[in-house]
Amino acid sequence: MNNQWMQFANDVKALYSKDFVPLHEPTFNDKEIEYVTDCVKTGWVSSVGAYVTRFEEKLAEFVGVKRAVAVVNGTAALHIALMVVGVEAEDEVLMPSLTFIATANAVSYLGAVPHFIDVSMDTLGVDPIALKAYLNKIGEMRNGEFFNKETGRRIKALVPMHTFGHPVSIEDLVAICKDYHLELVEDAAESLGSYYKNKHTGSFGKISAISFNGNKIMTTGGGGAIVTDDETIADYAKHLTTTAKIQHRWAFRHDEIGYNYRMPNINAALGCAQLEKMSEFVEQKRKLTIKYEQLITNLQGVRLFKEPANCDSNYWLQTLILDDTHNREEVLAFLNNNGVMSRPIWTPMHNLDMFMDCPKMDLSVTDSLNERVINIPSTPIKEV
Ligand SMILES: *Cc1c(COP(=O)(O)O)cnc(C)c1O
Repeated sequence: MNNQWMQFANDVKALYSKDFVPLHEPTFNDKEIEYVTDCVKTGWVSSVGAYVTRFEEKLAEFVGVKRAVAVVNGTAALHIALMVVGVEAEDEVLMPSLTFIATANAVSYLGAVPHFIDVSMDTLGVDPIALKAYLNKIGEMRNGEFFNKETGRRIKALVPMHTFGHPVSIEDLVAICKDYHLELVEDAAESLGSYYKNKHTGSFGKISAISFNGNKIMTTGGGGAIVTDDETIADYAKHLTTTAKIQHRWAFRHDEIGYNYRMPNINAALGCAQLEKMSEFVEQKRKLTIKYEQLITNLQGVRLFKEPANCDSNYWLQTLILDDTHNREEVLAFLNNNGVMSRPIWTPMHNLDMFMDCPKMDLSVTDSLNERVINIPSTPIKEV
């Protein structure tokens, strides 16, 4: 590999003042210690406690929705979100092939079938123009529901994902879902703190999922949340994620098969502390983008992915797009061998054994990005 990548690796290590720079680390200080210690000292570490309610309220306020339901992880949030909008076995659910596996897994848990859509170069998320043309070609309305003419299955929902925190063209997708009678479930796992025309991602769909895994912009250790403006749906999601138990001071009565998906209080305590710092994290990540923009001026044939028009991205993971003078594997090997942790984008879902036979449209943009996208260290730093 040539000198330009060596220079870049050295610049990144200097930026972080480290010999090995991880992709993304959580940032904690006294607040986390205070809240978590409170849980340990009072014994309220598990399934009951005040931090869960507080976290749900603060999160709903941050996202600008009526309700949030805290759960064990983002995958569980997606699973329940899809269930409560009525996705059933043998339905198809539209989603990008370019996503983390959780999106496709959650659909599969319901016995439904992922149906893969191509993405736009401008957003790295579902391309509304390509989607609309494709739906016109393969689908038809029957008694107010949309069906895939080729497979005979009902197409029930669309799950767009805000890749690396960058908002997808969500307004256009809202319009498509209205026209084709599809439920809109946003996979906003990566986009806490990202806005489309000043409205928070995850507040456009009927219901949305957020993740607080250790590598996300803020963390609860492991965790996730469902957010929605619909009180009825929120109540039902809360019920399902807490074993469908009927409230009673001592009796165990459950009115359907529920899930033990609730977020423990100790995780919610961590979440409350992290949420207080969200604006700071976003600001630092946005500054990091400006810094990286300077650092890559010496790299030929490489561009830094920037937020789409009318959007304010949280820049969760910084993203380089290589042109074909670079070999992605060589670049990844070089950076990882030289102390700069970097990762390829996820293997597209349609290339994985489990999802290979799922319905899909032409995925040329996805295939092209798959060869050219890498993520570089993105931990927010104070003194950029
Ligand atoms: C992180 C993530 C999830 C959820 O992940 P969990 O690890 O279950 O919290 C879902 N979708 C996307 C796109 C993600 O990046």
